[in-house]
Amino acid sequence: MKATQSGRLVVPGDLLGTAEEFVPGRGTYEHDGRIYSALLGQSRVDPSSRSVTVRALHSIPELDVGDVVLGRVEDLKSAMAIVEILAAHPSSRTVPGEPEGTIHVSKVKEGYTENLNDELAPGDLVLARILENHPSIKLTTAPSSLGVVSARCQRCHATLELTGRSELVCPRCGNRERRKVSSDYGLRQARDTG
Ligand SMILES: [Zn+2]
Repeated sequence: MKATQSGRLVVPGDLLGTAEEFVPGRGTYEHDGRIYSALLGQSRVDPSSRSVTVRALHSIPELDVGDVVLGRVEDLKSAMAIVEILAAHPSSRTVPGEPEGTIHVSKVKEGYTENLNDELAPGDLVLARILENHPSIKLTTAPSSLGVVSARCQRCHATLELTGRSELVCPRCGNRERRKVSSDYGLRQARDTG
């Protein structure tokens, strides 16, 4: 496993290292012996204590109708998804206060969506466009460039890989899942690691 580098830009759910290598600090969480970032920010490793922390990025709070944002799916209701808005896209400036937006089932993709669970899952990172910002933030992921950009296996937490237009497969356990994926699925990770 690649060791965590200080100063790396990370998003919630990014793997920082294992609990054998590091001590989880502020802005991180541990799951099954692995340490993940809980925030959008910069990772830091204290060489003496081996603690890994993530410091949240500072930000400019402005969200306009038409803006594209990066968010994390928090919860699925029968007719809508609740999304925590993390950052503007593509500037990556963070959005403070963790505002929530909603994606109505009719705005997830083009055409009819029978079951929201076939399109999104809690923990997914999504690109979404703001349709309304008052009195609450309403989002759409319908255009092909929008939708899920990173998803984790619901069985083993590994990052899913795209195998078809909307089908994802887990490289670790072989689990197959469906999402409304963005045409940018996985590109962010490819940039981060390459
Ligand atoms: Zn898996």
